[in-house]
Amino acid sequence: MADTVLTDEGFLLALLNSTPVIDGVPADDLADPARARAWLAAAGGLGTEAELRHVLRVRQALQAVVRGQQPAVVLAPELEGVTSVPAIGDDHVTWTLSVAPDRELVVRAILAWDALARQSPGRLRPCANEECRLFLIDRSKANAARWCSMAVCGNRMKARRHYQRSRA
Ligand SMILES: [Zn+2]
Repeated sequence: MADTVLTDEGFLLALLNSTPVIDGVPADDLADPARARAWLAAAGGLGTEAELRHVLRVRQALQAVVRGQQPAVVLAPELEGVTSVPAIGDDHVTWTLSVAPDRELVVRAILAWDALARQSPGRLRPCANEECRLFLIDRSKANAARWCSMAVCGNRMKARRHYQRSRA
């Protein structure tokens, strides 16, 4: 189990990308509650109904924030009452989140979004294909990646431009 649990950043991206468009039809990997709860448990969560409710709300807010449709302050209610508790170890201080267990996963996702926005501004972004609802984290030096996948959206968009040029 331990090696299948996602990092917080990995969970953030998986969560953002859980509403893909498949063959032109918008899908939702978390639409079926039983499957969604299994998905959350596999991602390191509790897999409870309460957790799923938090996750669905935060997913919608984070997707809107990363798309630039909503200000980041829409996430404020999700962080209400959350604290971080310091503890002294052998030679350093460690910080542990203090939050209701069914909210921990979403809080970690928000903190991962914040860490990315600070350390790598603009690197987390929506795919440039308007018909695609996926997101990408561009880790390349050039920071010029536009598509969630070169194989899927990259080639599709290139083919479309080629088609439009040849028609024009
Ligand atoms: Zn895409």
